[in-house]
Amino acid sequence: MTDKYCVIGNPIAHSRSPGIHTAFAAQTGQDIAYERCLAPLDGFADTVRELIAQGYRGANVTVPFKLEAASMATRLEERARLAGAVNTLRFEGDEIVGDNTDGPGLVADIVRNAGVALKDKRVLLLGAGGAARGVVLPILQHGPAAIVIANRTRATADELAAQFAGQAAHAGQVSACGFEDVDGAFDVVINATSASLSNAMPPVPASAFCQGTLALDMMYGKAPSPFMQFAASHGATARDGLGMLVEQAAEAFAIWRGVRPQTATILEQTRQQL
Ligand code: NDP
Repeated sequence: MTDKYCVIGNPIAHSRSPGIHTAFAAQTGQDIAYERCLAPLDGFADTVRELIAQGYRGANVTVPFKLEAASMATRLEERARLAGAVNTLRFEGDEIVGDNTDGPGLVADIVRNAGVALKDKRVLLLGAGGAARGVVLPILQHGPAAIVIANRTRATADELAAQFAGQAAHAGQVSACGFEDVDGAFDVVINATSASLSNAMPPVPASAFCQGTLALDMMYGKAPSPFMQFAASHGATARDGLGMLVEQAAEAFAIWRGVRPQTATILEQTRQQL
C-alpha cells in the first residue's frame, strides 16, 4: 500500500514540495505518494480531518496555516512548541503530532551546504514571525556567541528573545532590537522577514555586513532578492532559501520514513526547475 502525504496551504500551486519528496522517495526506495492540498482559508482543521479519514500518514503545512497546525496538534515536539508553529504533521492513531523542521533545515543548509559553522559566531536574525521563531532554538544548539533579533515591530522581537532569556543554558545569548539599533558587523545575517515577497528589503544597515559574512534570505527565486544584492554589494556571500526548503523537506521525510535522503543532487535539480 502506497503511503499518502501532502502539503497543505493556500495558495499551494507554487509549492515545490511534491517534486522534492517524490525525488526523495525514488532515491530511498520508499513507496509514498505526495501531492498538493489547497485548504480553504477557514477550513484548515476540516481539511486535516478529511486527510486522516482518507488514510494519509502525514502532511507538511505552509502559509498561512502553521500557527493553526500548532493549535490543532494533540502533541507538539519541543522545537514546534518553542516555535509556536508547525510545518510537519504526522498522523499516528488518534494523535496528530506537530513538529517544526524549518529551523533544522536552515541550520543544515548553513552548516552542511554552505560550510559555515555557527559556534561562537554573531548571528543577526531579521524578522520575528513564524519562520524566525522556528530557527532560534536550532541555532542556539550550535553554540553561537550571540543571536540578535531585529524586527520592524520591536515588541515581537522582545517577546521572542524573552522566551530564551529564562533558560540558563542560553542566558545572555539572545537579545532584541529595532532595525535602527542594529550595531556592528555579524558573521551570519538571516533575512526571515517576508519583505522579499514584495521585492523589498528590511532596513538593515550596511555596517551589519563585512567580508566573510554569510547573508541568507529565506526567500528563493530565479533572481537574487534585494536583500541578497544589498548584502553582496557590502562584501557578504549571499545565499537564498532554496537549500533551507530542501533541507526542511529532508528532515520531514526522515521523521515520516525513518530514512534520511541525500539532498545535494535534489537541491541542484530543484534549482534548475525554478
Ligand atoms: P510571517 O508573516 O510570520 O512574518 C513576517 C515577518 O516579516 C515579520 O517579522 C514582519 O515584521 C516582517 N516584515 C514583513 N514585511 C516587512 C518589511 N517590508 N520590512 C521589514 N519587515 C517586514 O512570515 P514567515 O515568518 O512565515 O515567513 C517569512 C519569510 O520566510 C517568507 O519570505 C517565507 O517565504 C520565508 N520562508 C522560507 C522557508 C524556506 O523553506 N525557504 C520556510 C519558511 C518561510 P512585523 O512583525 O513588524 O510585522
